[in-house]
Amino acid sequence: MKCPFCNARKTQVLESRVVEEGRAVRRRRECLRCLKRFTTAEHIKGTSIWVIKKDGTREPFDKEKVRRGILRSIEKRPISLELVDRIVHGVEKEVLIRDSQEIPSRWIGKSVLKRLKKIDKVAWLRFASVYLEFEKLDDFEKAIGKMQVKI
Ligand SMILES: [Zn+2]
Repeated sequence: MKCPFCNARKTQVLESRVVEEGRAVRRRRECLRCLKRFTTAEHIKGTSIWVIKKDGTREPFDKEKVRRGILRSIEKRPISLELVDRIVHGVEKEVLIRDSQEIPSRWIGKSVLKRLKKIDKVAWLRFASVYLEFEKLDDFEKAIGKMQVKI
């Protein structure tokens, strides 16, 4: 991103906001050379954001995939589809607001988890066990024990 005043290439993002119902990201930037501030609007195309998977390969960010993952984890839990949509929307927003076109899949998993945790502990644990792979089985059992829930 070039500074429109002095053409310098180094700019700093001060603030990012998702606008146009998720179709664009508006960023307030400051040029690191002349220190002038300006706003950019970046329109989001379907495949502009890539997810880096654990094996190093990448695939386009797909919010439907996020939704499917969440739906699997909430099976037989008292969670409405509306709530699922809210989680997906929140994750998508967080993905779009990052000043990066590549996002580790683990990061997306964490973004989902942080939201699920506030809503349903069982769904949270299910999602965690699939997406983050608990470091040791031990940790997983401890986490379940602490909550005294049946999965
Ligand atoms: Zn400048």
